[in-house]
Amino acid sequence: KTPTPSDIDIAQSVKPKHISQIAEVKLGLSPDEYELQGPSKAKVRLSVLDRLKGAAYGKYVVVAGISPTPLGEGKSTTTVGLCQSLGAYLGRKVLTCIRQPSQGPTFGIKGGAAGGGYSQVIPMEEMNLHLTGDIHAITAANNLLSAAIDARMFHEQAQSDEALFKRLCPTDKKGNRAFAPVMLRRLKKLGIEKTDPAQLTPEEVSAFVRLDIDPDSITWRRVMDVNDRFLRGITVGQGTEERGQERKTGFDISVASEIMAVLALSSNLSDMRERLGRMVIGNSRQGAPVTADDLGIGGALTVLMRDAIMPTLLQTLEGTPVLVHAGPFANIAHGNSSIVADEIGLKLVGEEGFVVTEAGFGADIGMEKFMNIKCRASGLRPNAAVIVATVRALKMHGGGAPVVAGTPLPHEYLTENVDLVTQGCCNLARHIKNATGYGIPVVVAINAFSTDSPAELEAVKSAALEAGAFAAVVTRHHSLGGAGAVGLARAVVAACEQPTDFKFLYDVDLPIKDKIEAIARSYGAAGVSYSPEAEAQIAKYTAMGFDKLPICMAKTQYSFSHDAKLKGAPSGFTLPIRDVRASAGAGFVYPLVGNMMTMPGLPTRPAYYDIDIDAATGRVLGLS
Ligand code: ADP
Repeated sequence: KTPTPSDIDIAQSVKPKHISQIAEVKLGLSPDEYELQGPSKAKVRLSVLDRLKGAAYGKYVVVAGISPTPLGEGKSTTTVGLCQSLGAYLGRKVLTCIRQPSQGPTFGIKGGAAGGGYSQVIPMEEMNLHLTGDIHAITAANNLLSAAIDARMFHEQAQSDEALFKRLCPTDKKGNRAFAPVMLRRLKKLGIEKTDPAQLTPEEVSAFVRLDIDPDSITWRRVMDVNDRFLRGITVGQGTEERGQERKTGFDISVASEIMAVLALSSNLSDMRERLGRMVIGNSRQGAPVTADDLGIGGALTVLMRDAIMPTLLQTLEGTPVLVHAGPFANIAHGNSSIVADEIGLKLVGEEGFVVTEAGFGADIGMEKFMNIKCRASGLRPNAAVIVATVRALKMHGGGAPVVAGTPLPHEYLTENVDLVTQGCCNLARHIKNATGYGIPVVVAINAFSTDSPAELEAVKSAALEAGAFAAVVTRHHSLGGAGAVGLARAVVAACEQPTDFKFLYDVDLPIKDKIEAIARSYGAAGVSYSPEAEAQIAKYTAMGFDKLPICMAKTQYSFSHDAKLKGAPSGFTLPIRDVRASAGAGFVYPLVGNMMTMPGLPTRPAYYDIDIDAATGRVLGLS
């Protein structure tokens, strides 16, 4: 048996079809409904949703995994393989909704995220590198807001109310002062129903010009799409002009920006405008939340994001359509593909078709956020869930030795050990139980590796069925492409014909702590503990009225618990909440669990060691 070539060699061996062919022939888009970005990428305009208003929805399938291990489970690979099979082998209309890879993992630990083997999105270099610049747009918008916060505090500190007012509302050629349209939002919030600056009383001027931001309350951080751990904590304001206004802050990775979540959860451009304006950066010294619109910047942020709101059309190795949108990191972010991409897809494929959308990491975080945040916001309901599992990863959950980078895989991962697999199936079983709790059928995709034995694969299958899966299917799309996933595709089609009884995990109107506790119970926790900071933030956000939002946990992906080393299905632990932030624009409350970092670091040997260019041809080498 010849081994499967490297991901990049396979990807570069297939010439992509011109993307207009995918747009028009596969999806029925008209030429004015997409914008070409070269021959292999296109942005899909949201106007297609107007044309398809009232159209029937296709079947909606969400893919997640067991708790990941360093061995890699192949969720993206399975998402793509399943779609290749549905489209190219079962002749169904299909669309894959997948997230744009972040530069952090691409050059850091994990590598790219375009799938693998014969189940990939192409051109994989485009997909894994800048694509159409959405993440750069998020970085630009996020950091414009950061600059606005510090500059505003600087100017307020140095100037009188009157001087601030004169600068904020300068006179025109005729000597009249006017409010910028965005200022009317702030005036409305302050209860000042005046449109002529000349009419404001001195008290109203003061309330209008002074945001009086409490520097210690600022939760808005700068972002960058690089695993740069030395930016986790920084001090700003050390230039000679800014002395005296130093402030401790830090960077997150761009995909963890609230603006990424806004992109993922907006239903159209005006919804995005409102959400960006509503984002809360901290509070005034009097305790009032300060928003992007208070800083006058909601419109400008939307302008920077106006192209990013259009999903990017690519294709699989077998010519089925793919919409790439929003970002990964379901551990520290919302981590799901966008609502607009799913919505466009569900309408374009029609009643008989399928949209397969990926929710990152294990079903405990990616799928939980898909159900309780994304589906709540969109109103869409899935017909079925797919949970990806591998024999190797389950062996690790069953007590297999840790994997050390740069050393050979321990023998238990390469030779048959049915007992170890069976022991590890407790992890899969809990994910199945949680997923069936949403009232939908669950299909387990057992992503086969060449080292798996038939008895090991059979052990996973029977454990999955015993745990309540509708079907469990061994799938070989990595080595065979869509042809290897026909069994999985048939099981997914059958699952989508089952009746569903969708339920959320928690009632969104419950107090913040009750919602956190409901999620913690689904992890197997016996209870939750809160740091004094977390207690204070919860009290503050409840007083501000942000308590009726769903919860977006920032928790390690490697375990159901907060401790990455606790494999399998741990229970009885106390889940520690270190801090809580509010993402009022995206629409969720964001608890940080344990020592979870929102900026990853680089390992000793990052993936960039393998990445290079063939300067003679311009070909990218070594991406995986
Ligand atoms: P995930 O989405 O779970 O993070 P990916 O789909 O990105 O995982 O796959 C991670 C890596 O594992 C890719 O390089 C892919 O080629 C490889 N991989 C996935 N499935 C298999 C398989 N069945 N056999 C060998 N390698 C695989």
